Amino acid sequence: MNASEFRKRGKDMVDYVADYLEQIESRQVFPDVEPGYLRPLIPDSAPEEGETYEDIIKDVERVIMPGVTHWHSPYFFAYFPTGNSYPALLADMLCGAIGCIGFSWASSPACTELETVMLDWLGKMIGLPEQFLAGNKGEGGGVIQGTASEATLMALLAARTKVTRRLQAENPKLTEAEIVSRMVAYSSDQAHSSVERAGLISGVRMKKIPSDEKFVARGQALKKALEEDKAEGLIPIFFCATLGTTNSCAFDNLMELGPVCNAENIWMHIDAAYAGSAFICPEFRYLMEGVEFADSFNFNPHKWLLVNFDCSAFWVKKRSDLIGAFKMDPVYLQYDQQESGLVTDYRHWQIPLGRRFRSLKLWFVFRIYGVKGLQAHIRKHVGLAHEFLECVKKDELFEICAPVILGLVCFRLKGSNELNKALLQKINHSKKIHIVPCCLGDTFVLRFAVCARTVESSHVQFAWKHIKELTTELLNNEKQQKTQN
Ligand SMILES: *Cc1c(COP(=O)(O)O)cnc(C)c1O
Repeated sequence: MNASEFRKRGKDMVDYVADYLEQIESRQVFPDVEPGYLRPLIPDSAPEEGETYEDIIKDVERVIMPGVTHWHSPYFFAYFPTGNSYPALLADMLCGAIGCIGFSWASSPACTELETVMLDWLGKMIGLPEQFLAGNKGEGGGVIQGTASEATLMALLAARTKVTRRLQAENPKLTEAEIVSRMVAYSSDQAHSSVERAGLISGVRMKKIPSDEKFVARGQALKKALEEDKAEGLIPIFFCATLGTTNSCAFDNLMELGPVCNAENIWMHIDAAYAGSAFICPEFRYLMEGVEFADSFNFNPHKWLLVNFDCSAFWVKKRSDLIGAFKMDPVYLQYDQQESGLVTDYRHWQIPLGRRFRSLKLWFVFRIYGVKGLQAHIRKHVGLAHEFLECVKKDELFEICAPVILGLVCFRLKGSNELNKALLQKINHSKKIHIVPCCLGDTFVLRFAVCARTVESSHVQFAWKHIKELTTELLNNEKQQKTQN
């Protein structure tokens, strides 16, 4: 494909994308396909001779679209949102065109420098304490990771290295293996599975402290675990607090947990993957009270801030903790300005070497929407969640299972877990809307998350009416079965 064909196809693709997003409501939100559907639809191996673009684009509707779950449909209420907006799509295109690999300042100075400034902008937008920002001479700073999972892992690995070095400085005879085998890290029982996984990957044992009746991790529970583990000779190194848990969007109590972590010299990482975006609205910042106790903080603009995947924002108070832990400087990555003290080499801040120019997406989105536009987006979603909440609350058959603070409503039919599983199955088999469940303690719960950028009150009202109809059907069937027995 040459430039002149690219010009034409590119414009066609923009039209296809705009049509797709504009008309997404008319597509069934969840596909009808069965596992293995795709292989028989395309050849067994790659073509020897190149094909035409027309051949490919025809196959998008034939092969791909029938197997797509439409995350940006206004009938999609599953998981948490994933960001999508026109400025982010355009920025991603430019990112692909520049196609640099920004592992060091010299590998593409704009890639590094825009990222540092955008993470400062974003930190200010959400009211993050100054120490997390890079500024001109700060010790902190932000970096874009692929996912919240990687951010948690980076924080844990940095904590592991920091403690190992400290203990080895005190006692040079201790081996790293001896120290690591006694380490312990913590999260609440509501933390995302990626936190437990970070423990598995890093080889640090991970313990879950019990959350309270509102699914919030509290200081006392952490203190108790610390006392018990220290008495057994373990070395506590890390606590991952969650702001906005995946199950129910609960907020761990940082004002209690932070001082405990600081007093015990434990790295406190905050995983605010979903909820972090809400902090651009001042009225939600009370939810991150105590953030100043943390060593690192992470949230996903690719979840709720209209930036397409992937873009996870990660800040540390002391960038030396990260850089010191993972520094490698082979000759082929060195350059003249390296020793100037003014450069950032982001390869030391992450696991892979290579990295894309993802800050373009932030820059485009921040400038097109402005802080006010992004705040309006968050507030609209929170409003719609509360609209759904009011519908559920007015209905005697249903109950609310956790406080509704942002854009997630946890609800269920009063009755057994089996009844609720049957209702979920009915909802997802009818494929008019899509939702997923969670377990809160032993209780099976339905999660209604406000997701799409274009979702309106009419879609929420449709979803509730639809759930009500399926509930009536379900309860009538149950009644009939009972009388038949
Ligand atoms: C979604 C989510 C994650 C995982 O996010 P990735 O960026 O996909 O790793 C982690 N923690 C919480 C609280 C989440 O909601």
